[in-house]
Amino acid sequence: MKVVVTGGAGFIGGNLCRQLSASGHDVVALDNLSMGRAENLDGTDATLLEGDLCDPDTLDQAFDQAGAVVHLGAMGSVPRSLETPLLTHHNNATGTLQVMEAARRAGGIHTIVASSSSVYGATPDLPKHESLPTRPMSPYGASKLATEWYALAYQHSLDLPVLAFRFFNVFGPLQPADHIYAAVIPRFIDAALDGRALTVYGDGKQSRDFTYVDTVCATIVDAVNRQVTSPEPVNLAFGQPVTLLELVDLLQELLDMELAVDHLEPRAGDIRHSDAASARLYELFPDTSPVPLRAGLQTTIDWFRQP
Ligand code: NAD
Repeated sequence: MKVVVTGGAGFIGGNLCRQLSASGHDVVALDNLSMGRAENLDGTDATLLEGDLCDPDTLDQAFDQAGAVVHLGAMGSVPRSLETPLLTHHNNATGTLQVMEAARRAGGIHTIVASSSSVYGATPDLPKHESLPTRPMSPYGASKLATEWYALAYQHSLDLPVLAFRFFNVFGPLQPADHIYAAVIPRFIDAALDGRALTVYGDGKQSRDFTYVDTVCATIVDAVNRQVTSPEPVNLAFGQPVTLLELVDLLQELLDMELAVDHLEPRAGDIRHSDAASARLYELFPDTSPVPLRAGLQTTIDWFRQP
């Protein structure tokens, strides 16, 4: 089947294109390379279509004869969205609307979209289950709420088959450390291997529910193959939170080195705790089984150590 992955040259996209190609799909990665890299598709049979997902003609070209769309293309990062809220909205909210319209024009393609745990925002309840109220604390979180609800609205009103996943903190190979909005695990590993102190915003007791990227991609491939839909958003995480200080300890053990930590002020828009409820995920994907954090971290360290 032809599968289009928007944001296919990004971190999750590159890993997903690899898994989709390996399972026999004809994969087109649509990416404007604003954050993604063509090299992320090296060694896969995926075709890179360089273009903007906000452009209807580009989407029509990409979606022609496609059997599924995985919409990952977006401007990530909470802090970046505080600097460029309108651009975040344009790429993430308007961009999703363009993707849904193109999926409709192409005859109603099964569409999987990437939302985020940031939609829970200031909601204090733990674990985060999908029936909780959403209270985004950043323009990024608000744009991801728009992403999932535009997609689900197209399902409710226009019968488009849709699945909206809420990713939590995904990590693994291809995730870059070399920009100011880099995620915490690549930042920590890169600093540790370079002999620099690890920067922690706040006291380090904030928790994150990390998911290894292969687990996320395997679940998406399964959803593509079985054309899974849901009328509600679905957490794609497993309720295994660790604090950033616990993460530092684990990295010290795996790297077998003492790591220095610099504490800076907490960042605006960051949530305190993250812990996913996974009941809905297991209902839809009973066979899913996450790669343990320790094993995922080891593979990620090995990837960073490659010449
Ligand atoms: P990423 O930045 O590596 O990938 C996003 C890709 O989208 C990039 O390759 C970028 O070049 C591309 N892109 C952005 N705007 C585009 C546009 N207008 N047209 C075409 N391409 C465009 O990020 P990622 O970590 O791989 O995230 C993938 C998706 O998952 C995003 O939607 C993100 O919001 C969501 N998500 C990620 C995480 C995580 O922990 N990584 C957590 C929650 C949600």
